[in-house]
Amino acid sequence: MKFVSYIYEGKAAYGVLNMDESRIIPIDLILKDLNKECPENLLKFIEIYSDSLVDEIELTMEKFENSSLGIENLKLTSPIPYPRRNVICLGKNYAEHAKEVKGNGIEAKVPDYPIYFTKIADPAIGPNDEIVVPWEVTKKIDYEVELAIIIGKDGKNIKPEDAESHIFGYSIGNDVSARDLQFNHIQWFKGKSLDTFTPLGPYIVHKSQIGFPVELDIKSFVNGEKRQDSNTRELIFDIPYIISDLSAAISLRAGDIILTGTPAGVGIGFQPHKLLKSGDVVECVIEKLGSLVNTVK
Ligand code: MG
Repeated sequence: MKFVSYIYEGKAAYGVLNMDESRIIPIDLILKDLNKECPENLLKFIEIYSDSLVDEIELTMEKFENSSLGIENLKLTSPIPYPRRNVICLGKNYAEHAKEVKGNGIEAKVPDYPIYFTKIADPAIGPNDEIVVPWEVTKKIDYEVELAIIIGKDGKNIKPEDAESHIFGYSIGNDVSARDLQFNHIQWFKGKSLDTFTPLGPYIVHKSQIGFPVELDIKSFVNGEKRQDSNTRELIFDIPYIISDLSAAISLRAGDIILTGTPAGVGIGFQPHKLLKSGDVVECVIEKLGSLVNTVK
């Protein structure tokens, strides 16, 4: 099942996509039918219900096909536009990518431990939203397609074999990066956190549709030219490892978002660099998770 957030007639709402992805069934209709309270947004829905209603929603949604909304009549937003905390990210989590960034003031080394950092997403932007670059502040803008994990259940000291039970679903993230700021400041926080630099979407696919381990083709395109092309099975630190390692003495919360790192083919991986400029269209694609398109302004 695919969960989406959207704006319809000026109001923010959320729901589920129908089979052919042409229509959205508002969640309030389904929850009313199931005699359940309707949380105000998808983040709250995940916090309150986690997976407990997913099967019932799936069985009920057909009833509401007639009261569904055509996707062309609404504006999709990020499924979680305002995450409860900073988005948690991994750096250099694909070996080929760890190698390609050498010569940019960094060692070409596969890390012994996961590199964690966070970025502000306030908000995370949605499909077709603009990445608005403050060109007076940065000149070196790069794209990074990443598999996003959406945590579904609070947990601490989670064992690798229990990791999947703490996941709600998956989405696509673009870890847009101001390379000049990233390297000037040593800590990556500033260069990764500029407003509009966290596209996330177009929807959250429930984990029941993905399988485990997660092995999905992951690609990005700039103006139609393929730049990144890998598979999430190539992660250096895989999902069970990430969740167990992160949650060792840090509580993970339902709704937390983890970006798992980007494969080779980012702009600074090319010689000369292929950085983004105004008007560029960036498309991030992950098998089964759709396509996330954003234009650079
Ligand atoms: Mg990244």
